[in-house]
Amino acid sequence: MAKTPAKPKAGQPAQDPQAAPRTEIGSIGEFPLIDRLTADLPIHNADYTCKGVGDDAAVLQLPKGEKLLVSKDLLCEGVHFDMTYCPLRHLGYKAVAVNLSDIAAMNGTPRQVLVGIAASNRYSVEALEELYTGIRLACDRYHVDLVGGDTTSSAAGLFISVTVLGSAKPEDICYREGAKEHDLICVSGDLGGAYAGLLLLEREKRTFLSNPNAQPDFQDFSYVLERQLKPEPRTDIVKLLAEKGVKPTSMIDISDGLSSELLHLCERSHCGCMVYDNKIPIDAETCKALDIFDIVPTTAALNGGEDYELLFTIGQKDYEKLKDCPEIHIIGHIVEAAQGCYMVPENGPMMRLEAQGFDGFKQR
Ligand code: ADP
Ligand code: MG
Repeated sequence: MAKTPAKPKAGQPAQDPQAAPRTEIGSIGEFPLIDRLTADLPIHNADYTCKGVGDDAAVLQLPKGEKLLVSKDLLCEGVHFDMTYCPLRHLGYKAVAVNLSDIAAMNGTPRQVLVGIAASNRYSVEALEELYTGIRLACDRYHVDLVGGDTTSSAAGLFISVTVLGSAKPEDICYREGAKEHDLICVSGDLGGAYAGLLLLEREKRTFLSNPNAQPDFQDFSYVLERQLKPEPRTDIVKLLAEKGVKPTSMIDISDGLSSELLHLCERSHCGCMVYDNKIPIDAETCKALDIFDIVPTTAALNGGEDYELLFTIGQKDYEKLKDCPEIHIIGHIVEAAQGCYMVPENGPMMRLEAQGFDGFKQR
């Protein structure tokens, strides 16, 4: 197995792609670059991966009785990430992590990824190696095989497209549809942290642009910065649910904010929901960071996005099995469609849920 590189630390200044040493991609060419990026890749899933990188196509197999799950995400510089504060190593890690999250959201296990890269001449060989350190770290940590990809140049900026392949027994797969009236609504972990981290990073970027000598002020905010820069897919929750003998009636991962995902789930399941403000899990550090920007924590949890936690519904019969799991929080219940989708605050009137999360096509 490959030596696992040191875990990247959040909050460190992004590396300058211009910084030495710098080998131009054009000076070594495409094939030596691919060789450098893909040297000594381990295979973690020999039952699923027969042949990885190195031929015209990877050769994969599925054990009898399992279905194949496939998903893809495309990340574009300036739209999904900002090189001023996103270290390449974290970016590589995140590009894989968000894909693994999609497989977890189907209640499946990720097995392989393919990585497509298009980079402008602003990026050196060393910069792409840094990106791949993060990609490999995520693959090693989550026992996923990097089995192929494509590498090309772009006229401007960096593009990273990751395809993930996963597997699940057909009877275990969870869809967005399937939530039924009276089901309990659950979320894993805590919410709003990634958005709090983004606000801090954007603030530091503004400070840096007005005074390049300014030192970043990230004291005591390592958790929310990690939430933004280095999210972890909740494959552990998929395992936990299996151990507890619980199959969610519906599931989705929270990439665009709780509000938007609840609406997706309810729309696909033809139902409504009632969630309770005081049940939404939010970390103390998230609250502290949001306070600087005068943002109500619930607003960040509902509309912030990029938390990559799992949102799922369970039948009431399963309540006892999950009620003592510290990483799972019951935040409300499913109602009939005619009742709509609402958040119930501790005081004051019910609030209709609206999708205000991240939308790649929205005018900014
Ligand atoms: P082709 O010309 O058939 O597209 P390539 O020369 O692009 O093949 O790729 C050679 C091998 O390297 C293939 O196995 C391919 O999947 C793999 N590969 C190419 N680029 C990447 C990348 N960025 N990450 C991982 N594997 C890659
Ligand atoms: Mg190719």
